[in-house]
Amino acid sequence: MLSGHHLIAGGWTPGADSFTSEPAHGPSHDFAVGSADLVDRACRQAEEAFSSFGYSSREARAGFLNRIADEIDARGDAITEIGCQETGLPEARLIGERGRTTGQLRLFAEHILDGAYLDRRHDAALPERTPLPRPELYMMQRPVGPVAVFGASNFPLAFSTAGGDTAAALAAGCPVVVKGHSAHPGTGELVAQAIDAARRGLDLHPGVFSLIQGGDRAVGAALVQHPAIQAVGFTGSLAGGRALFDLCASRPDPIPFFGELGSVNPMFLLPGALATRAPEIGAGWAASLTMGAGQFCTNPGIAVIAKGANGDTFMHAAQTALEQVGAQTMLTHGIAFAYRAGRDRVRSQTGVQEILTSTCDLREATPYLFRTTAKAWLANEVLSEEVFGPLGIVVEADSQDEMLAIARALKGQLTCTLHLEPGDHVAAKGLMPILERKAGRVLANGFPTGVEVSDTMVHGGPYPASTNFGATSVGTLSIRRFLRPVCYQNLPAALLPEDLFPNMDSPE
Ligand code: NAP
Repeated sequence: MLSGHHLIAGGWTPGADSFTSEPAHGPSHDFAVGSADLVDRACRQAEEAFSSFGYSSREARAGFLNRIADEIDARGDAITEIGCQETGLPEARLIGERGRTTGQLRLFAEHILDGAYLDRRHDAALPERTPLPRPELYMMQRPVGPVAVFGASNFPLAFSTAGGDTAAALAAGCPVVVKGHSAHPGTGELVAQAIDAARRGLDLHPGVFSLIQGGDRAVGAALVQHPAIQAVGFTGSLAGGRALFDLCASRPDPIPFFGELGSVNPMFLLPGALATRAPEIGAGWAASLTMGAGQFCTNPGIAVIAKGANGDTFMHAAQTALEQVGAQTMLTHGIAFAYRAGRDRVRSQTGVQEILTSTCDLREATPYLFRTTAKAWLANEVLSEEVFGPLGIVVEADSQDEMLAIARALKGQLTCTLHLEPGDHVAAKGLMPILERKAGRVLANGFPTGVEVSDTMVHGGPYPASTNFGATSVGTLSIRRFLRPVCYQNLPAALLPEDLFPNMDSPE
């Protein structure tokens, strides 16, 4: 089933070197290491494919997306099996994530058939206008060209080979070159097989999709700097994302880098909510914090509470629920190591008290809970940094003013959450103007893990949540990352894209 090769424009291609996968359980396999040469071949072919795929009909692209979803479903059991082995995530999670992935592909198929995403506009000519006549103007969104996608370690399916970035780019008409994540190369290869089968079945240009396995940092660097690549989708670490973002910006022709880098997803627990629901919120937080070993970009790592007896009840409930959670396998040894380093960093800060301790080593994570004061948190930037894993910090505020100060001090976030009762609305209204400047999504009385894939979803936010806060990487709006508006002035009808006219007057 597994070749261990790269998929370069329709050809399964070996590499000069290989690396061995490190599954959490089950057999390991050898995979070819990527190289700058392979990146060049894949990107040139992607550029060639753009001249047909970029101008293909929306119906053809919708057919491709649906076919990919069908081919993934046809390989469902094999994908689940190797996905579980490589990531250590449970079977139910892999099955659910596959459903989300095929659902995204089918949603994008529907989305482009509707055509509203093209945002077609028309300013009719005004030849008699004085002092100057107005020309005939049309505007429409067009695909940008080949797109590079970096598979994410924490979503082997939904944010990887055929994940949201790939689905959005293909829907837009952009060929895709994926740099696979070395944490799940086998899962990546099986999904690439599904994409390749769909492409062959529809006789599309082979350059429309390539997968280059990892194993060498030079691959990612070469990919984002390749002249054919016009935009990049990335989910991963702040350090890695920032390095690649800087490479994109320093190109002779800088390109947009849509990176999702890090977020602590703070929750603000207002006094009324604490008075009525402290135990329930504490238990719910513990469940959200430990889901998938806390390896979610929307993991709510910080709870800001009003200091007092109800706050103590909340902390106690969270602590009790966290105590029940055993050790969980993390995605990689490196991520488990980084988690413990983050724990040690928090633990060593002044004014921080450890209220739930545990021990974990190797590739496992156990929950940790810390408490600190608003003053200590505000004085120490380290406490606002993401610790990727099941670690929570409770920040106790003496007053509403301290809560507002915490909100103002936040860096960019994917989400901010309010827990409130009707009596908290005045306090919440004070926070809202600050929180909506900080986050892509503000939610009430819930937990931010579990991101709906829909038309309204925004999964992005000011830096470092993302490198481009005008964009989302989840939901149909994410297609906008791979489109750019083009204005057509006084062009003869024969030269205008056909897509301009279904719902508007055709030119004379
Ligand atoms: P990562 O280290 O940022 O790697 C992501 C991808 O970028 C990999 O393909 C990696 O290649 C590549 N890459 C990273 N730095 C690079 C560089 N300087 N030059 C070229 N390519 C580079 O992220 P990760 O492996 O997924 O996880 C590490 C940490 O990232 C976690 O501990 C966690 O803190 C964070 N993370 C955050 C999120 C989130 O949603 N916010 C999600 C996942 C991970 P290689 O595989 O070859 O290194």
